[in-house]
Amino acid sequence: MKIRELLDWSSKSLVRSSSPDIDAWVLLKFVLQADDSWLISNEHAPVGSQDEARIRELIELRKRGVPVAYLTNSRQFWSKDLYVDSRVLVPRPETETLVETVLRIARSFRSPDILELGTGSGAIAVALSSKMPHAKMTATDLSQEVLAVAKINLQRHDCTNVNLEKADWFSGLEGRRFDLICSNPPYVGRNDPHLEVPELQHEPQSALVAGKDGLDAIRQIVSAASGYLHSKGWLILEHAYDQAGDIRAMMNNAGFVDVHSEKDLSGHDRVSLGRKSE
Ligand code: GLN
Repeated sequence: MKIRELLDWSSKSLVRSSSPDIDAWVLLKFVLQADDSWLISNEHAPVGSQDEARIRELIELRKRGVPVAYLTNSRQFWSKDLYVDSRVLVPRPETETLVETVLRIARSFRSPDILELGTGSGAIAVALSSKMPHAKMTATDLSQEVLAVAKINLQRHDCTNVNLEKADWFSGLEGRRFDLICSNPPYVGRNDPHLEVPELQHEPQSALVAGKDGLDAIRQIVSAASGYLHSKGWLILEHAYDQAGDIRAMMNNAGFVDVHSEKDLSGHDRVSLGRKSE
């Protein structure tokens, strides 16, 4: 088959994906190890039988809902190429709002001591470290196999100021204090129909689901965070598009001040934050 024919066949096979053309293009590029311009100018070149078989195999997996990022072991976040596989959540664009908010708040600290809870692929830590080499950072996760993925990304991007530690939210961090605590915790409710999206079924449920209303992890973090912050330190959390009001109330009840939310690019309140009073 020629490249163009294989692309057309692949796109057609992926009609149920939300982006069949892009998926087909990215998977072909991946297997042929080609870049965009090579693929554009070689549409009529034949594809070797081994490559064709591999492409058909990947298209089959994609049809079953496996995210493209797992098939290519790669995802761009904050303009960084990250290694990802099914041990970690695929980094989402809306999480860049969390990174932007942390960077804005961190500007008022000369050399901030930052904790990221539940780092997964390490996407947030890599982005923060690239912009704040002067910061001291700790990134945690519950599982050693997830920390192994974060380690690959931190090493790939030379993030020497990030320390990886195994911890279950705050348990494992007793006695420590930070200037900023941030997290993109699981926040989807157990029965949320969003979980039926095929891609989500291939992702680690522990990184997505947090109890009946999706707020279990956030409740745990908000209620304990003060004990791990210096006075005037900030807690900054990503959450679902409809959870901001609940989370601001939780933060106010826990004694945080200057509580407010930030919008993502779709205009949804996506990040809420509050400062520990003096
Ligand atoms: N934003 C993700 C989604 O809606 C959920 C990520 C999370 O739970 N932290 O697919």
